[in-house]
Amino acid sequence: MTQTIGWIGVGSMGHRMSRHLVTAGHALVVADAVSTERAPQGATVAGSNAEVAARAGTVILSLPDGNVSQAVARELAGAPSRKVKTVIDTSTIGIAAARSAAEILAAAGIEYVDAPVSGGTAGADKATLAIMLACPAETYERLKPLMSLLGKPFYVGPAAGQGQAVKLLNNFLSATALAATSEAIAFGVSQSIPMQTILDIVNASTGRNSATDDKFPRRIIHGRYDAGFTAKLQLKDIRLYLENARAAGITDEIADTVVKVWTGMDHALPGADICEMYPYTRDGRKEG
Ligand code: NAD
Repeated sequence: MTQTIGWIGVGSMGHRMSRHLVTAGHALVVADAVSTERAPQGATVAGSNAEVAARAGTVILSLPDGNVSQAVARELAGAPSRKVKTVIDTSTIGIAAARSAAEILAAAGIEYVDAPVSGGTAGADKATLAIMLACPAETYERLKPLMSLLGKPFYVGPAAGQGQAVKLLNNFLSATALAATSEAIAFGVSQSIPMQTILDIVNASTGRNSATDDKFPRRIIHGRYDAGFTAKLQLKDIRLYLENARAAGITDEIADTVVKVWTGMDHALPGADICEMYPYTRDGRKEG
């Protein structure tokens, strides 16, 4: 059944994901604080987040961080003549912010679904994202057909923040893989071995990971640093991981190092794509 869906935040991820809803025949109402230029063709542009809340029963968020998600939750909860009953937050915002957004909305009788995604802009384009849903099981069943338009939904658990926990641990692994692989490949290349040879062997061996089978062969080897995910956003995720792992009493030696490495890159190359970790590492991880 098609319905009117609201979408707030049509940035790198949001404009790609929201397009699939229009293709599936849903009426889409979008808002973005900076620009709606990338809103999918066929969508209606709203003048404010509150207007989206007044026009759609289900509103999906794709926002930069927890402060913004909480601020938008407040705007939706306080919107005059609001229609919104369900807010699905696909942003990566950490456990505390997800719980807080859920509380803000619950006080206004609106359900909050913690639904971070993984798979990058390519996954958003191809609707192959992994979507980590934390909400009551009945809500998950109800939203599964809608979420399946964006990728593969997974049920994590009933509490807001549990989706964030899986997303953060995933991004810690992915950031670790890219930083460690950059060191390993720089070493291999220094021994006069072609990068392609190293990748072919590692991808048939035990060192295979998301950097060796995706970012290096598809982008970095061609000198393309265009994963569409900035080191700044990556750093936000792994800092949140470190903070939450520490709060849970989990050993953080590796996470601590990985955060330091990505912090160094973000300082040296402000605004850089995550793939630039390779040249940054190869050149000695020096300030730019
Ligand atoms: P982005 O910065 O490109 O997009 C965020 C959008 O939100 C922007 O267009 C911005 O103008 C808008 N926005 C900011 N404040 C707003 C407000 N108060 N009201 C309405 N709109 C507002 O970021 P992105 O790369 O699209 O990422 C979005 C979320 O998805 C982030 O939480 C990110 O961590 C997560 N994520 C990103 C990727 C990726 O590869 N880019 C992958 C998985 C998850």
